[in-house]
Formats: sequence, C-alpha cells, structure tokens
Amino acid sequence: MSEDTTFSRDELARYHRQMILPGMGREGQERIRAARVLIVGMGGLGSPVAMYLAAAGVGTLGLADFDKVELHNLHRQVLHGSSSVGMLKVQSATKTLSELNPNCNLVPHPLGVRAEDLPALFNAYDIVVDCTDNFPTRFMVNDAAVMARKPLVYGSIFQYEGQASFFHPANDAPCYRCLFPEMPAPDSVPNCAQAGVIGALCGIIGSIQAMEALKFVSGVGKTLSGRLLTVDAATMTTRTINIKRDPSCPVCSANARIRKIVSAEYEWRCDSQTSSMPSTESISAIELKALLGTADAPVLLDVRDPDECEMGMIAGAVTIPLYQLGSRLEELDKTRPIAVYCHIGLRSQHAQRLLKSKGFKKVMNLKGGILEWIRHVDATIRCY
Ligand SMILES: [Zn+2]
Repeated sequence: MSEDTTFSRDELARYHRQMILPGMGREGQERIRAARVLIVGMGGLGSPVAMYLAAAGVGTLGLADFDKVELHNLHRQVLHGSSSVGMLKVQSATKTLSELNPNCNLVPHPLGVRAEDLPALFNAYDIVVDCTDNFPTRFMVNDAAVMARKPLVYGSIFQYEGQASFFHPANDAPCYRCLFPEMPAPDSVPNCAQAGVIGALCGIIGSIQAMEALKFVSGVGKTLSGRLLTVDAATMTTRTINIKRDPSCPVCSANARIRKIVSAEYEWRCDSQTSSMPSTESISAIELKALLGTADAPVLLDVRDPDECEMGMIAGAVTIPLYQLGSRLEELDKTRPIAVYCHIGLRSQHAQRLLKSKGFKKVMNLKGGILEWIRHVDATIRCY
C-alpha cells in the first residue's frame, strides 16, 4: 500500500497547497488531522479561528458558545449569515464549517464553558483558543487551562487595538494572570456594546490565533509563547513585548491561591453590565493638565516601552513598562493618586487594573493616551 492512502483523494487535493510548505509536509498535515482544538466563543474572534482551523483540516474542533446569533453580530462574526439570526451560534457554526470542510469532526458545546465542566472539558482537547469577549470567562478559561496544563491561545480586542499571545505555564511560558493578576471590577471597564468593535480587526487577531494553534499542533514554526503581540489597527502599528512568568502569579505559580474553578469567583459578565466607565477612573488630557501643579496632582506613570518613551513623554512622568509593572510596584507610592498613560490608552487600562488589584487607592487612566495629550496639551511631543 502506498503512503498516499493515508489521506483520501479529497484530502490530498484539499490540503495540497499547505502540505508543500517547507517544514509542513505529510507529517505536519497528519498532526493537524490528529489534533483536537477547543474554541471558546463563536463570535468575532471565534469566526476566523474556526473557519481557518476547519479549512486547514484540524481533525476535531470543539465549538463552545451558549449564545444565539443576532443581527448586530453579523458585521464581525463572519461565521454566521443572515439566515442564521436567532439560531444557536454553535448550530450556525456547524452549518458553515461542515460546508467548508466535511472531514472535520465538529463537537458543539452549546452550554458554553461552565465552571462545573472545567477543567474536564479541557482534558478532552490538546489546545484551547480563547475567543471570549468578557473578563470573567477569559479569567476562568485561563485558570482552567493552567490547571489542565493545556496551552491557551489568547486573543482580545478593544476598539482599534488587539492583542495575542500563547500561554503555556506547563511549558514554562506565562499565563494570562502573569500579566493581569486580578479581574477588573465590573464598573471599571466599558462593556462590549459601549466600546465599539470593527470586524476586520477581529479578522486580524483571530487569524493570528488560528496561526498560533496551527503552529502548535503541526509543530511548525515558533509560537508567541513568552511574547505579547499588540496591534493598533488605527495606525497599523504592531509591537511584540517579551513577557515572563510572574513568580507570584495567583494561578500558575508554586504558591498559587487559585487551585480549582469555583463559579462564584467569575461572576460578572460583559453583557449584563449596565454602568459606564466612571469618570473618577479615567481622566481627559485637559483635566490632567489642570490637575498638574496643584496639591491634588497625581503621580504620572508612563507604561510604554523604553523606545516609545524616548520619542517623548509628559514631563515628570515615572516610566515602568507594562510588562515590568508587576515586579516593580515598590517604586510607586500606594497612598498617592496615580495617572497612568500609554500610547492610546489601552495598556494603561491594564496597568490601572493591575494597580487597583494590588491595593493602589486612586488610579486614573489618561483617556486616549499620549496621543490625546499631544492633541490637546503639548503639540511639541513627537506623534507616532
Ligand atoms: Zn501565571
């Protein structure tokens, strides 16, 4: 029997263009076919992830989502069509993906991910792709992946900025909580509907996640393990930040306080939020300018990378890159108010969450980052 019979004619034709890739070959394709990948969330990120993984020939795809398709999903959730409105997302996804590649074994999980099912659910898969859109689920998925010792492909978007990484503490790579130890308070972040989202950015970040999963299962290339990729789609600027495991991480360190998944720990959901971001938590460039020089002036904290700070900063700011913040907290005074800023105001939100979780009382985020400061206060700083 010739080796070619390992794959059907359909498969050989279907995957030919990727099987001739350097390093991929028949072995890589076989590994892809043997792989079991769980995708959590069938929305904006889950759409490109599921479609590219199915098309590439991943043998088993778990599809987890409890939600139904709504009309306002369609501009970004390209897995679902107009005729699927009202249908469960996992049903709609199964319809699209089985048409795309009938060789793929699709396993719908229509209850989504529930604390009581984890991490047993993750044990049935080789790798998990986090395509969630809310913090409680993201933290729960991270914690369960750490406990199940499974790699987790992370992706998230906020307005025009996206992030991706490959978390795998079992392989000495950091986890999500190494970066962001605690879940933010429900009223400290804008909800999905308020923040806005554009479909093409979901496509960019979701495609990166699909690529990460394919590299892991095929053994080809090098994943984003130990690196956080950020994409600012508004300026199409990408950055790669080296990230390390946090020796005091609440879930993946030796002294972890989180040892099992308890649903009460992950209570609030993005879609149940009603309050907007309180004004005490964020500050405009003009408001900040007015505060500086008064008795109430906050400590200015710049969490951008050193090469960004070299291009120009707000005078008097302390600089600690976001990825070092967790290990350099002693350099900051917990009792004084802090105004934190970055390029466009996203990394500073993460810094704000981290500081709040570490007991800093008053932490304000400069809305729009240094770009807003340049626009409204100091045009002499170089814009990038
Ligand atoms: Zn960790």
